[in-house]
Amino acid sequence: MAGQSAKIETKATVDVSPYVGFCGGVNRTIKIIEKLRVERPKANIYLLGKIVHNEIVLARLKRRGFKTIEDHRLARDGILIVQSHGIPAARLEEIKASGIEYVDTTCPMVKDIQARARSLHKDGFRVVIIGNRRHEEVQGIAGQVPDALIVGSPAEVEPAVFKAVSQAGIVVQSTFIRAEAERILKKIRRFTPVVRFENTICKPTSDRQKDARVQAARHDAIVVIGSPTSANTRNLMSIAGARNRRTFLVSRPEDVDNLKPGRSRTFYVLSGASTPMDVIEKTVSRLRRRLSKEDR
Ligand code: SF4
Repeated sequence: MAGQSAKIETKATVDVSPYVGFCGGVNRTIKIIEKLRVERPKANIYLLGKIVHNEIVLARLKRRGFKTIEDHRLARDGILIVQSHGIPAARLEEIKASGIEYVDTTCPMVKDIQARARSLHKDGFRVVIIGNRRHEEVQGIAGQVPDALIVGSPAEVEPAVFKAVSQAGIVVQSTFIRAEAERILKKIRRFTPVVRFENTICKPTSDRQKDARVQAARHDAIVVIGSPTSANTRNLMSIAGARNRRTFLVSRPEDVDNLKPGRSRTFYVLSGASTPMDVIEKTVSRLRRRLSKEDR
């Protein structure tokens, strides 16, 4: 009996987070374009910019005839898709004025951040966006108002710039790390007398980040499934990695063969917001198969 329970205790377990797979915004965009493909089988459907930061999804879309373009003017003979991260207001106006047929699939939560930025500007605040300046979502928010400031880390809060701002209205990139946003906010408050902070990190992101924080401390190893090009995947890596040094990034199911989890017995699986469910299921099955072989 004692031997039996010892054996059960040593069996490896793989738990999967309830927050895996596409976030609501990405899911919505994919559903819209798939419906469009069915309804308009012959139409050229152009995706403006990377619709998701996941190479597997992009390759699948390409195989199904969707074309990714950076310049919306190339979509004159088809339908243009504005992706879930959104675009600057002026660019949307340009698309409208061009007469190109388009579908705006910007996530409602990103639209809300854009609206808050416009409203803060209207109320006399200098809009400050906490986020990565190279990310399309941040560029889309910045493009809603004149002169938005973008800061991605406390080091980017330049005293001279923020001393010259009398009142700052702050919004946050939807996938930003909350603790880092708080550090940036604290630094801005040192220089700018009036600060209005709107926490616009979306709920799907908050749920995933909180889960990563809690579970990283409870499991021997964390496996994050997603692309290294995805900001929210990298954020999950960084949150879990700060609490658990056995945190691994896996982009494809085959990657689990190369993991070196040492003597880990309890695994917890997280995913980025643009990782498809079938990739997660295949990765988890492969990991379980590998661990059960090692248990024998
Ligand atoms: S991460 Fe959040 S805001 Fe961004 S697309 Fe997904 S649900 Fe929308």
